[in-house]
Amino acid sequence: MKYADRVLTELQERYKSEPEFLQAAEGVLASIGDYVEDHSDIEKYGILDRLVEPDRILTFRVTWIDGAGKAQTNRGYRVQFSNAIGPYKGGLRFHPTVNQSILKFLGFEQIFKNSLTGLWLGGAKGGSDFDPKGKSDAEVMSFCESFMTELFNYIGPDTDVPAGDIGVGEREIGYLYGWYKKLANQFHGSLTGKGADWGGSSLRPQATGYGLIYFVEAMLQEMNQKLEGKKIIISGSGNVSQYAAEKAVEQGAKVITLSDSDGYILDSEGLNEEKLQFVKELKNIRRGRISEYANKYKSAKFFKDQKPWSEEADIYLPCATQNEIDGDQAKKIAGSRPILVAEGANMPTTPQAVRVFKQAEILHAPDKASNAGGVAVSGLEMSQNMANLAWEKEDVDKRLHKIMNEIHDKCVKYGQAGGNIDYIKGADIAGFARVADAMLSQGVW
Ligand code: GLU
Repeated sequence: MKYADRVLTELQERYKSEPEFLQAAEGVLASIGDYVEDHSDIEKYGILDRLVEPDRILTFRVTWIDGAGKAQTNRGYRVQFSNAIGPYKGGLRFHPTVNQSILKFLGFEQIFKNSLTGLWLGGAKGGSDFDPKGKSDAEVMSFCESFMTELFNYIGPDTDVPAGDIGVGEREIGYLYGWYKKLANQFHGSLTGKGADWGGSSLRPQATGYGLIYFVEAMLQEMNQKLEGKKIIISGSGNVSQYAAEKAVEQGAKVITLSDSDGYILDSEGLNEEKLQFVKELKNIRRGRISEYANKYKSAKFFKDQKPWSEEADIYLPCATQNEIDGDQAKKIAGSRPILVAEGANMPTTPQAVRVFKQAEILHAPDKASNAGGVAVSGLEMSQNMANLAWEKEDVDKRLHKIMNEIHDKCVKYGQAGGNIDYIKGADIAGFARVADAMLSQGVW
């Protein structure tokens, strides 16, 4: 039995109750199996056995006072997965679905994603089952302060640098950072995603979405094609979706859908700058529902409780959440013979969906490659904090673009598959090889 298969079998036995983590581990271990066989030191030094177990998992109680003066209790976590190539780095997710399995899947993926950026970033993830939806600013602040009271002992610019994810945007990072400073009495880069006026990178909000489109452009360029004129389906309407749509529209593409957990909107005329401004205001400030888009714009229709995957397009960008495309939905996508699917969300495709795309020979960029732009700019924010420098937006954008092109080239290099490019395999091998080499150089710990 191959070393990677043995590790996977043991993992499946040990973590039966962590399906999302197993799903992420199965994907990576399947991709790297042959590479591992060709490098015997990897087994000798137990690299896989070590890499599938987080360095540590912190779990804590978060108690806070709601608007009615009642005490509420949530669960908080930080999964510090690997610091082989840099301090632990990865977002915090506040969502009712958060549990240890979800955070282990996200933390595990983050190791390889961060490795692909070429920066010195280890892998981690954290969060809470707290639901910010419908909560007042004061309630969110009370929660964030209590969460940080526990977390602050374990983070710092050279130790672990959390950032945002679903449910954690600039508002939450603000409250978390404010309380961190209160406790640590230090103004430094212990969190990324900070406001541009107080230690943040000027392009961090745009970074994941812009990076996704830069990656898509690199894929298209590989086939001598351009983004201009392409029809795009985007799911979600949060940070990644908003800025992916913005960049795609700027480059002359036609974006026709957005969604949230209530359903999706189809705008046959396509989004434009003004409509996107409305979405940003709706989602980021008023915290409303995407159905309001269809009330405002006559060219749009709202489809309640549905996902946009039956609509036809050239490019599909799932940017909402994990497992949002299952096998049947992937068949619908494959039916419109798109040029490519690129993931903006983390693990938005089920294993069945991955197989459907593979069989239909549809180019499929995995999250760890195509959505690495966010953490890449977080890495740049860390560099700026260390040097106490504020870089111009154009400068950050240029660096982001270069990093996304380099990630694309790594996928092409390691993903050759009989004339096609297997972006999933390419990303997994390239991401893993760097971490494995670092672990082999640093001895057994
Ligand atoms: N949550 C983002 C991700 O999934 C960004 C993490 C970060 O900036 O540290 O990659």
